[in-house]
Amino acid sequence: MAATTEAKRKGELKMLETARYFFDEAAKKLKLEDSLIELLRYPKRRLIVNFPVRMDNGKVMNFEGYRVQCHPVLGPGKGGIRYHPDTTLDEVEALAVLMNWKCAVAGLPFSGAKGGVRCNPKEMSVGELERLTRRYAAEIAPIIGPDVDIPAPDVYTSSREMAWIVDTISMHHNGEFMPGLVTGKPILLGGSLGRETATARGGFFCTLEALKHLNMKLEGATVAIQGFGNAGSYYAQFVQEAGAKIIAISDSKGGIYNSKGLDYKAVLAFKKETGTVVGFKGADKITNEELLELQCDILAPSALEDQLHERNAPKVKAKVICELANGPTTKEADAILHERNIFVIPDILANAGGVTVSYFEWVQDRYRYFWDAERVDERLKIFMTEAFKRVLDMHLKHKVDMRTAAFMTAVSRVAEAARARGMYP
Ligand code: NAD
Repeated sequence: MAATTEAKRKGELKMLETARYFFDEAAKKLKLEDSLIELLRYPKRRLIVNFPVRMDNGKVMNFEGYRVQCHPVLGPGKGGIRYHPDTTLDEVEALAVLMNWKCAVAGLPFSGAKGGVRCNPKEMSVGELERLTRRYAAEIAPIIGPDVDIPAPDVYTSSREMAWIVDTISMHHNGEFMPGLVTGKPILLGGSLGRETATARGGFFCTLEALKHLNMKLEGATVAIQGFGNAGSYYAQFVQEAGAKIIAISDSKGGIYNSKGLDYKAVLAFKKETGTVVGFKGADKITNEELLELQCDILAPSALEDQLHERNAPKVKAKVICELANGPTTKEADAILHERNIFVIPDILANAGGVTVSYFEWVQDRYRYFWDAERVDERLKIFMTEAFKRVLDMHLKHKVDMRTAAFMTAVSRVAEAARARGMYP
């Protein structure tokens, strides 16, 4: 546990370092004025709350929670809340900063935010989790609101916790129901259709655009997917339905490979039954490391951060990398992949489909009129395709790698809005 914790922390901090590095690169290329660099490099607010929760055994335990908000230049803050024993203020800050650039790249009227509570939800009862969630919501309530900062689910939180947050804060406002306060809610309380598939679908639309740009076809293209959870499994579905051949899939226990193709539905059914993809009949066992170095057209890291680094980047054989995971590539690996002409769809673009549909949920909540799934998917396609094109234009115009281009797109958008707003007082 200690080693995992340490590795995880390093990963999160590396993510912050990488986000800062690419912000600095973008700022340099955009010749951003010093005052804006100072303003945008750091979050506006880092809130720490300590609060008591009565446990089932009658004892009171204190918990530490966080909410970090970037400067709300483009609009209210947006970002998830995670419950994890290793959550720290630095981790939450790293994730808030990434959200800031992700919202800007996707063209959403939001700035970045993130929250967390250091706790072990696996060892807590539903009653304890409800009391913790309600008290944490009350603690951060002064800086939360449909026009201020809109939380969402993240690691070990779900629509259940979002419903408790809406209920708690509504109680603080004489019972006024405020569904636009959080996203990722149950459908009956103002959640949006299409959220579950949104991240993978957004990545799929980006993949289609990337292939078009590279004069490649998805039909018959070979795909390797690391991670077979929400993002990875729906991505597998979308690419297979479009005619691609999935040759490798993995999860935390290892990977499977078949050069003739794997049927995502059969692998999913096998994983549901056994808890892992490993052991799937008619496929060879491979390691997660081997999967990343396979001969294939598209590689989709969809699990963890720091998977592609300076040691394996020279051995990657994919032509396109679609980063569904957050931070799967270190900045050293990024430079190597760019040098080797491997086309990377960076995380802040490739996985922005999730927050885009969260934006749709917020819009629907504001006017209390809800869209069918087709409308959600159609609009997601428009948003993702346009975002991809903006980044590609920046990439071609400035002859920079796609990640720098994505940061330049995001930073220039926020900087332009900041200049237009001017300075108070
Ligand atoms: P998930 O928990 O549903 O699935 C994660 C998958 O990764 C599981 O199959 C797990 O077995 C696998 N995995 C864990 N450790 C692994 C390892 N060492 N090697 C290979 N596979 C491993 O999570 P998810 O929601 O699919 O998220 C995956 C990634 O996508 C994360 O980086 C997340 O931050 C990012 N992301 C997800 C969303 C979303 O809406 N789900 C949005 C944006 C970004």
